[in-house]
Amino acid sequence: MDNQASPDTSSETPRILLWDIDGTLIRSARTGAFKDYTIPMLEGVFGTSGRLAEMKVSGMTDLQIVAEALGPAGFTHEHIRERIDHLRKRYMEEMHKATSNGAEFFQLLPGVREVLQAVADHPRYQSALLTGNIEPAAYLKMELVGLSEFFPLPGAFGDESHDRRDLPALAAERIRNRLQQDIRPHQFIVIGDTPNDIACAHHFGARALAVGTGRLYTTEDLLECSPDAFIPDFSNLELIMQMLASL
Ligand SMILES: [Mg+2]
Repeated sequence: MDNQASPDTSSETPRILLWDIDGTLIRSARTGAFKDYTIPMLEGVFGTSGRLAEMKVSGMTDLQIVAEALGPAGFTHEHIRERIDHLRKRYMEEMHKATSNGAEFFQLLPGVREVLQAVADHPRYQSALLTGNIEPAAYLKMELVGLSEFFPLPGAFGDESHDRRDLPALAAERIRNRLQQDIRPHQFIVIGDTPNDIACAHHFGARALAVGTGRLYTTEDLLECSPDAFIPDFSNLELIMQMLASL
């Protein structure tokens, strides 16, 4: 908590909320369902999905997932970057295919819509996405669960780096340009469900609010990474608003 004598501790000082998607706002209806589209995408672009089938990928960017899946098959970051346009195109084709058969593919986590509405209505907060998903996949997911309206600011995405720690600075630069304001790192709050979310926040100097709704990490795992705040889930709107007010 920031108790220094500084105008930034005022509740009027803006805060930018940088939201993770998977495990934070939504989850797939089935564990590992993302492999329904990522395996055919990798096979289509690289001729192999490498070791993806056996990987657990929570908190990783899509570029990192691809690099780790294909590394043993001899593909480097450069090989992957060379094919990034093809990868994005194929990714979206496979994702549309996997999610368009009428079955519920993604579920909104409890309380998420209410929290997003409450912060959208509050003058102190503005929201953007900060996710390991490639950009078009992130926006498709938000469309599928009806959350598109809540992220008017530009964010940062998983096709921009294989290291999530790079993403907050990218989002911050875009947001400062959009708002024409000098927003300092501690005015950004990264909200996510994995140690990588907390690490990327602290790497940039942002605050980290950890939420315990991810499938891969326990409360203890997250607390060990020293988030600035922790909540088990978004079901208690009053509590989350109090917690955000303290950050
Ligand atoms: Mg996540």
